[in-house]
Amino acid sequence: MNLDVNGKKVLVRVDFNVPLDKDNHVTDDTRIRGALPTIKKLLEQGAAVILMSHLGRPQKKLKEDGSIDVEKFTLKHIIPTLSKLLGKEVKFANDCVGGAALHAASSLKSGEILLLENTRFHKGEEKGDENLAKQMSELGEVYINDAFGTAHRAHASTAVIAKFFPKDKKGFGLLMDAEITNANKVLKTPQRPLTAIIGGAKVSDKILLLDRLIDFVDNLLIGGGMAYTFFKAKGGNIGNSLVEEDRLDTALELMKKADAKGVKLILPQDSVIADKFDNDAAILTMESDNQPNNWMGLDIGPKAQADFIEIIENSKTILWNGPMGVFEMLNFANGTKVIAQAVAKATANGAYSLVGGGDSVAAINQMHLANEVSYVSTGGGAMLEFLEGKTLPGIKAIEE
Ligand code: AMP
Repeated sequence: MNLDVNGKKVLVRVDFNVPLDKDNHVTDDTRIRGALPTIKKLLEQGAAVILMSHLGRPQKKLKEDGSIDVEKFTLKHIIPTLSKLLGKEVKFANDCVGGAALHAASSLKSGEILLLENTRFHKGEEKGDENLAKQMSELGEVYINDAFGTAHRAHASTAVIAKFFPKDKKGFGLLMDAEITNANKVLKTPQRPLTAIIGGAKVSDKILLLDRLIDFVDNLLIGGGMAYTFFKAKGGNIGNSLVEEDRLDTALELMKKADAKGVKLILPQDSVIADKFDNDAAILTMESDNQPNNWMGLDIGPKAQADFIEIIENSKTILWNGPMGVFEMLNFANGTKVIAQAVAKATANGAYSLVGGGDSVAAINQMHLANEVSYVSTGGGAMLEFLEGKTLPGIKAIEE
C-alpha cells in the first residue's frame, strides 16, 4: 500500500459480507476487523476513505413484488459495529453510484469515512458491468482492493473498476497483501519438507487442489470423508462411508501421479467408525479399508493420527485445508484436534503453517489454536482457487 493518498479520496473495496441475526445485528465481525488495518492506515495518511462492499445475495432474494429487499440487505446494518471498532463516525450514502453517492463522496474530508450502499443492489455488479464500474470509479481518485474473499469474482467493484485507474492510483489493501504473501510462502518459496493436509467431505471439490499440490509438495496427507473414495478405488471395504463412485478413477490417477512424482500420499490407515451419522452412534476403531457393512468412517483413527503427526512435526512448511473428520460432532472431532495441535507444535518449532479455505478455519477456531499457526486465511473459496493456481480476477486487475 505504498500509494500517495494524502488529501485524496480513496475508494476501498472491502468485504463486509458478514452474518446478521434476525434483528440485523452483526453476529461475527471477523471480516470487518480484517479491513480495519487498511482503513486506519489510510486515515493516518490523510485520506478520505470511501468504503464499498456487497452484503448477502439481494438479487437472489428479491421481495415478492420483484424489488430489492433493502431493509434486509442494506449496509447500514454494518455501521454500528464499524463505527464502534474504529471509534469514529461513519457516514452513509444510499447508493454506491449516482447523485447521492457523488455528493457524499465529493463533500468527504480527509480523515472522514463514508460507507456506500450494497454494491449488489445493482444487477451489473455481479455481471461485471463496465458502465457501473466506471460510475463507481468516479467516486475516488485512488482505488484499493482489500476484499480477498471476493477476489475470485470478476465483478464490477472487485475487478472491472480497476481498469479506470492508472497503475500508480490502484493497489492492494493490507489484508489482501497478507493473503497473497502468505499463500506465496507455500506456493513459491516453501522451506522443505512441505506437507499439505487435505480433508473435508468431497474429492470432487478439491480435485484441482490435490492435482496441483502433487506437483510440488513432499507429503500429501488425506483425511476426512474424501479419504474413503481413495480406499474404495483401491478395492477396500468402506462400509457406508462417504464415497463418490464417479471419482474412483480420479482417485487412482491422483495416487499414480503422486507415485510417479515421488510424493508421499498418505491415507489414514485406521478410522473411528460409527453405526450411524450421529454423535451418539456406537463407535469402533477399524482399519479404514476393512469396515463392516452399514458402518461409516467419521474420523481418522489413532494409528493414522500417529502417522500424520510424525510427518507434520518433521515438516518446515504446512498447508492445511479441510477437517479430518466430522469435527462438528464431539465424538468425531478428535482427529482434527490432534492434527491442529501437531500443526501448532510444528509452528512453535519454527515451521511455517497456513490454514485456509472454509471449514479448516472453523475447526482451528473451535480448537482455540488460531493464534498458534502462522496464518489463518479468511479467503475461503478465493484462497482455494489461488492455491489451485488460478489467476484471480481481483488480483490481476490491480497488477495489469
Ligand atoms: P469441506 O467443506 O469440503 O472442507 O468439508 C467439510 C465437511 O466435511 C465438514 O462439515 C465435515 O463434517 C465433513 N466431513 C469430514 N469428514 C467426514 C467424514 N468422514 N464423513 C462425512 N463427512 C465428513
